[in-house]
Amino acid sequence: MNFDRDYTMTIGGRAVSTAETEPVVNPATEEVIAYAPAANRAVLDEAVAAAREAFPAWSARPIAERQSFLRAIGERLKLHKKDLMRLLTLEQGKPRAGADWELTGTIIWCHETATHDLPVHVVEDSVDRLVETRHVPIGVVGAITPWNYPVLLALWKILPALLAGNTMVVKPSPYTPLTTLKIGEMLRDILPAGVLNIVSGGDKLGKWITEHAGIGKISFTGSTQTGKRIMESASGNLKRITLELGGNDAAIVMPDVDPKAMARELFWAAFQNSAQLCVATKRLYIHADVYDELAAELVEFAKTMKVGDGAQHDTDLGPIQNRMQFEKVKDLLADARNCGHKFLLGGDVPEGKGYFVPVAIVDNPPEDSRVVVEEAFGPVLPLLKFDDVDDVVARANNSIFGLGGSVWSSNLDAARKIAERLECGTVWINEIHAFSPHATFAGHKQSGIGVENAVQGLLEFTNAQTIVTKRVPA
Ligand code: NAD
Repeated sequence: MNFDRDYTMTIGGRAVSTAETEPVVNPATEEVIAYAPAANRAVLDEAVAAAREAFPAWSARPIAERQSFLRAIGERLKLHKKDLMRLLTLEQGKPRAGADWELTGTIIWCHETATHDLPVHVVEDSVDRLVETRHVPIGVVGAITPWNYPVLLALWKILPALLAGNTMVVKPSPYTPLTTLKIGEMLRDILPAGVLNIVSGGDKLGKWITEHAGIGKISFTGSTQTGKRIMESASGNLKRITLELGGNDAAIVMPDVDPKAMARELFWAAFQNSAQLCVATKRLYIHADVYDELAAELVEFAKTMKVGDGAQHDTDLGPIQNRMQFEKVKDLLADARNCGHKFLLGGDVPEGKGYFVPVAIVDNPPEDSRVVVEEAFGPVLPLLKFDDVDDVVARANNSIFGLGGSVWSSNLDAARKIAERLECGTVWINEIHAFSPHATFAGHKQSGIGVENAVQGLLEFTNAQTIVTKRVPA
């Protein structure tokens, strides 16, 4: 398999190209690295038809067989891990360590998701009657993914959707289609034709997928704005939807921590993947007693980080993934400067090739400033001072988002009490970004609808069916 060229879609188990293509840009150099196919409606129709044709046989297989397919996917990804990592860095920008984390996690997910089973709930088992609720696949699932973790987030959908017995049409972000296209290619000889179709194209292809009458469910990860549009257009045939959307996660640091020991972990909580992470810490609330010391430690640690091309071995933080997002982050920085907020570090973006933004740390800006209220999705972190628990909980919850959050304290009981009051889908205590294939991942409020991962995530790819049997011969 050649990872440097031949980026084709996978439809009905075959390679499919299109006359029209879209350039894919390396965000570190701004050079076009490849051209990806751009599917039109007719190509999408073909992909949906292939998925529909494959559905009866795939859904009829015993789940144990589909579990084996998931393990085989994991093995194939492992075989090509190094090449996928390199391609991921090239198209996404993330440094080698980040690409390794993403691929390693994805492979673990394949094997762990393969242990999940579809439960059957026996509601009544009496002399007269057997009442059981089981879970059946929906049909064709449309999966639409973003550009920050293109491999992991695609597999978070593919694995449970296929395990539940659905077939799929998957569309990666037009900014990072290459790794997903290659994964489609490497699975052609593993999965039966039509079970997993990968199509590439721009946002309008996403819209066509959400409108398509042949698709029964949309699983989407991306921005809240797009999520709302999807909810609207998926209503045509009442598609089921799972939406994993934006976040503005708060971390709450209590006064009983050791600022020096915490700085490194809190830095990565906020700046992992150059802060292009839905559950990155985007508002860091620090108790007044340790604010100055922790702020200073954070700045000192941040100064040791090298921002650069992810392909270079000594890079800690890569570029912003695309020009659109780069401009958004620059606009947020300009607003913070114009409003007179104080930067403890960074704030300016140097001219030159590549979408590089140096780490920016803002000193206690007003709670209603854009840099606090908006999801930056770039390396700009506001530090916010508090001295009262009720006040900080109210401020953390004062957001349209509710994706994740974290609490840092040496008093586990007190931390737990705060965690329970946070309005979000995941709260970490004294660590962050510890995900599990067996724990739900979900957004509250405008961070999403439905859950991913765990058996609950698997059930999102099914319809419930209750069978009532009267135990009297007819
Ligand atoms: P985006 O919403 O711009 O795009 C995501 C995908 O949707 C792309 O494939 C895009 O082509 C497609 N799309 C765009 N318009 C569409 C439409 N009208 N109908 C259907 N599909 C359409 O998001 P992005 O910029 O790629 O990703 C960044 C956002 O994703 C951030 O807000 C981030 O927080 C969020 N995110 C959330 C999670 C999570 O699990 N909650 C994970 C990662 C990223």
